[in-house]
Amino acid sequence: MELCWLTTGRCNQKCNYCDRFHSTKDLKDKEYFFILDKIIRYDVKHLTFGGGESLLINCFEQIVKKASDNGIHLKLVTNGQLIPLYDKVLKYLDEITLSIDSVDDIINDRLGRGVNHRINIENAIKVIRTHKNICLNINTVATKINLNRIMEMRSEVEKWNISKWRIFRFCPLRGTAIKNQSIYEISENEFQNLIDGIHSMNLNCNIQFRNYDDMEKKYLLINPEGKLCISKDMKDTVVGDMLKDDLRHWFA
Ligand code: SF4
Repeated sequence: MELCWLTTGRCNQKCNYCDRFHSTKDLKDKEYFFILDKIIRYDVKHLTFGGGESLLINCFEQIVKKASDNGIHLKLVTNGQLIPLYDKVLKYLDEITLSIDSVDDIINDRLGRGVNHRINIENAIKVIRTHKNICLNINTVATKINLNRIMEMRSEVEKWNISKWRIFRFCPLRGTAIKNQSIYEISENEFQNLIDGIHSMNLNCNIQFRNYDDMEKKYLLINPEGKLCISKDMKDTVVGDMLKDDLRHWFA
């Protein structure tokens, strides 16, 4: 299972299909470090930071530095907008995954990412590429709004020379995603047709698809309040509290 630390419920974008955990405030700095110390003690080898937008956390640079110093392979999932401002954290990261669902500015605007999202991504990539050791990936969410335009991302995906393209089926798991389910959801058949179409393009990168059951089997989450969660039957199930409980068996 991929351990994803969703460090904050805050974000600088307002995607209308967002399934992040909403929480009113971030943890205190000492609570972030308490959780990180536990992750280190549990001998976690790979850690993915997500959100919200983790770059908004005050102590994020110190967190990634300490995690990196302890030999953990670090991935940051980000909308990319803040990368040029927070480039000091890049030297500690092994992978960065940028979220982009279309290269069409109007569609990005309709999805709530803003009309400049593609340009922001390209600016982020320029900064990331100054760090030769960082592996660059893309995440795309397939929704009713962008479904027929995802295949036209081909030329950008090739131009950006990414390592991994992960395509998620829109999942009405939480918050805004549940509220706007009828606008964004796509059927099993529609997702399968997309998979077939993408495979037929023979792209020179690792392409992975994530459907509903993958959300349950492939991810272990630490939510913005420090609760350890799994998703089951399209709902979050809290299995413990990283701030209080001994959860070592989940990381074995
Ligand atoms: S989908 Fe990602 S970038 Fe968009 S609002 Fe949610 S957390 Fe922020």
